[in-house]
This record gives sequence, structure tokens and C-alpha cells, in this order.
Amino acid sequence: MNPLLEDAARRASQYLGGLDARAVAPDPHALSRLRQLDVELPEAPQSPARVLQQLDELGSPTTVASSGGRHFGYVVGGTLPASLAAHWLATAWDQNAPHPTGAPGAAAFERTALRWIVDLLGLPSTVAGAFVSGATMGSLCGLAAARHTVLARVGWDVEARGLFGAPPITVIVGEEVHPSVTKALGVLGLGRDRVVRIASDAHGRLRADLLPRLQAPSIVCLQAGNVNTGSCDPFATVIEQAHRDGAWVHVDGAFGLWAQASPLFRHLCEGVSGADSWATDAHKWLNVPYDSGLVFVRDREALRAAMSVSAPYLASGHREEAASDLTPELSRRARGVDAWAALASLGRSGVRDLIERCCCHAQRFGIGLANAQYEVLNNVVLNQVLVSFGDAEMTRQVISAIQSDGTCWCGITQWQGRTAMRISVCSWATTDADVERSLAAMIRCAQECARQHRD
Ligand SMILES: *Cc1c(COP(=O)(O)O)cnc(C)c1O
Repeated sequence: MNPLLEDAARRASQYLGGLDARAVAPDPHALSRLRQLDVELPEAPQSPARVLQQLDELGSPTTVASSGGRHFGYVVGGTLPASLAAHWLATAWDQNAPHPTGAPGAAAFERTALRWIVDLLGLPSTVAGAFVSGATMGSLCGLAAARHTVLARVGWDVEARGLFGAPPITVIVGEEVHPSVTKALGVLGLGRDRVVRIASDAHGRLRADLLPRLQAPSIVCLQAGNVNTGSCDPFATVIEQAHRDGAWVHVDGAFGLWAQASPLFRHLCEGVSGADSWATDAHKWLNVPYDSGLVFVRDREALRAAMSVSAPYLASGHREEAASDLTPELSRRARGVDAWAALASLGRSGVRDLIERCCCHAQRFGIGLANAQYEVLNNVVLNQVLVSFGDAEMTRQVISAIQSDGTCWCGITQWQGRTAMRISVCSWATTDADVERSLAAMIRCAQECARQHRD
């Protein structure tokens, strides 16, 4: 056996086994020890075993315990055991996954994972799909395909000529658009600020009744899963109107698109399969290791036109297409292997159960906090809960107390002018007991802050 890899496995098991007993936030003393990294590159080599030991001793206590069951910050997700193990093995393979000739096995696992995900998300079976680093890159790819198509339709070849002198594209977003979408628009030369913003309703859904008539070339960006409320835009209505006017519709579904995997929550995304492109994450709700996101585009040729790369030395001679013709990267790791392992271990029923369990935990948080007389600011329709502990200052204090208490970890947000704590449940590892323990800690911290305030 290989003692170094055995040692890595032993240390990783020990790390994961210790998560339940430790605080979710990193140990402040351990964080201060990170200063030991501020040294010059050593002249002499060191043994790999010694390097691993340093990494573990210095690094492991500084992590945020997001692979445990009580991290509810951002929208994070954990790592399913099969996916973590597969990730290790695939790293040992070190395959450059986009190239079927150079990595035939890895490319085949990716194709299967993509096909399974298209099926779970209820997208048309003929869509082009590819793994990218996250939903931000997924949106970049989807919107690049959009830019290609809407300009090609008015006789402009954007890949060849760029945007100089191109007909202006109208870009519609909801007021609640995720900043990754505006960033992608900026990178593509479509402008972060020149977008037309449509107001949202009280739940954060774009108001379809405010969508203007559009003229080509135009792109409409919708959202499945508002980061604050979990709500989804009214896809069916907006997509129908946008398509009537010849616009391209892109959907940012980083986590919300996974509602499609459950018959109980699918109604939130009704009509979403009618869009032209979709971005989502695997590293959030599918619980694969970072980094892993996806893009899907209805018109394969549009994505290829935007992303293809060619050189004589790259010619594969394969009839299969190289995934590097569908995304910005030429080389990358075999992200699809982790996703394949996650899906193979869960099965269809396991994915459904994962989504439903998280939503059920979110509902329990909502009910538990409301019963303790704290104001829940959203309808808990999916896996996100917003709670206020009083005024902005009190809410900030309680969040800070909860974070340093360490039982669980939740972040802060602003929702419709209110400061709120945001609970996002998306880890396979969260159990009923984790929820009860976390709820008790939240209420204890809130009561303690209120008591201090009175005294
Ligand atoms: C997380 C998230 C993104 C960005 O995804 P990355 O994987 O971080 O690139 C985009 N949109 C929404 C709604 C998100 O929750």
C-alpha cells in the first residue's frame, strides 16, 4: 500500500469524524497560527508525509465545518461519501476530462452524469450540457450562446467581429437577479448596469405583468431559487411572452432548479424547461465537492459557436465532440466523475429524498422560530428561511452570537429593507437532530441577546 495516501485517508476520516463535536466556525487560535505560512519558499525539499502533516495540523482546524450537518450559511451543500471517494480516485487518474481521446473513461462518466442530470432536472433530452466550475460560469456560457444567437439572427457574427458596431442587445433581468448573472453579462460586454430591471413581487419573483414588449435582439434572464426566499420566477408566462417576441431566455437555477427532482416541489419551476439555456450547480444541492457547476443549452450549435476551440494538434479524430468546445476551459479535471458517483449512490429516489429532506428541515426551522415568537420574513417554499430577531442591530447581534456559539452557522442578509438571518439547508448530512440542536442554539442566543439588551 501507499503509506502517504493511507495517511491522507486516515487524516480525512479523522477530520470528518470530528466535525460533530467541534464548532462550525473555525477555531480562532488555529486561524492565528496561519501566520506560520508567511514564510519564503523553503530551499530544501521536504518529505510528502511531512507536508501532509503540516497541512492537516495547520489547515484542518481553520476550516468552516461546511461538510458537517449544521452549516446553513450561503448556499453551500456538503460532500456525499461516494462523491468524495470518487473525487480522490479521479484525482489519482489525473485525466484531462474534456478530451475523449486523452481521457476516454472520464469523458464517458461525464456524459452519463450529464444525461442523468438533464433527466432529473426535467430538461429536454436533446440539450447540450457541460461541466463548468459553478453556476457563474454556467451563466457565462449560457449567455454567450444567447449573445451568439440573438446577434446571428440580425446578421451579426459576434465571435468573429466582437461587439464593436454590433446592434445593441436589450437585456432584461429581475430586480432580484443574482450578481453572478450581472457579472457574466459584464464579462460578455453586455454591461452590468445597462440591463433593464423588472420589479419583483413580495416573494422576490419577477413580475411577469411588467415585462415589456421586446424587439430583437434581446435576452431575458430568469431565476430558479432566490438566494433569500427560495422563490422561483414565473417561467411559463415570461418564457411564452419572451419567445413570442423572439428573445432568448436564460435561467439561473444554481440551486432552485433541483426542485425539479421532487414531485413535491416541481411546481415551483413549472415551465422552466421551455427556456433556451440554464445554469446550475452540482456543488450546492447535489453535494459533490467543489468546484462543480453546469450549463445546458437547447441549441447545441449556439453553445459550440460561442465556445469552440480548434487547432490541428487538438483534432481528436473521434466522432465525439470534445467538452472543451462547449465551455471556456481547454483543460480541466473530471468534474463529472464526482457527479456520476453522487448520482449512482443516491439513485433517483435518493436525489428526491435529499431535496425533500432539506426543504422539510427548512420548514421545521421556520415553524420553530415562529413558535419562539421570532418573525419569519419569507414563505418557506423551498430550502431557504429568513428570520428577524427584532430591529437590525438586535438581528446583527444575534447572528454574531450564533456564529460564535458554534453549534451552527448562519449568515446575514437584507431582505426588502430588513436585516435578517438567512438559513439555507442543502446538505445531505443535516439530520433532524442537527436541526433541533441548531434551533435550540438559535433561540438560546436570541434570548441571551435580548436579556443583555434589557439589563
Ligand atoms: C450560488 C449561486 C450562484 C453562483 O454560483 P457559483 O457556483 O458560486 O458560481 C448563482 N446564482 C444563484 C441563485 C446562486 O445561489
